[in-house]
Amino acid sequence: MPIQPHPFTFKCSACGWKKTVGPKSDCLGPGDWFGLCPQCGSEAITMKPATRVEQLLIGVWPRR
Ligand SMILES: [Zn+2]
Repeated sequence: MPIQPHPFTFKCSACGWKKTVGPKSDCLGPGDWFGLCPQCGSEAITMKPATRVEQLLIGVWPRR
């Protein structure tokens, strides 16, 4: 069974901005990574593996 790249959820702890990205390959592209919050410019970005609900929201789960 191939290992699917795991989607991540980025969250800004300064303003509450949040985004879930689902990489289409095993490399994250420049548009799939956030070092700064695009909303407030804060560097207080945290990332964690997306939950199933968050994956559903961006349409990467379930895969067919
Ligand atoms: Zn922010």
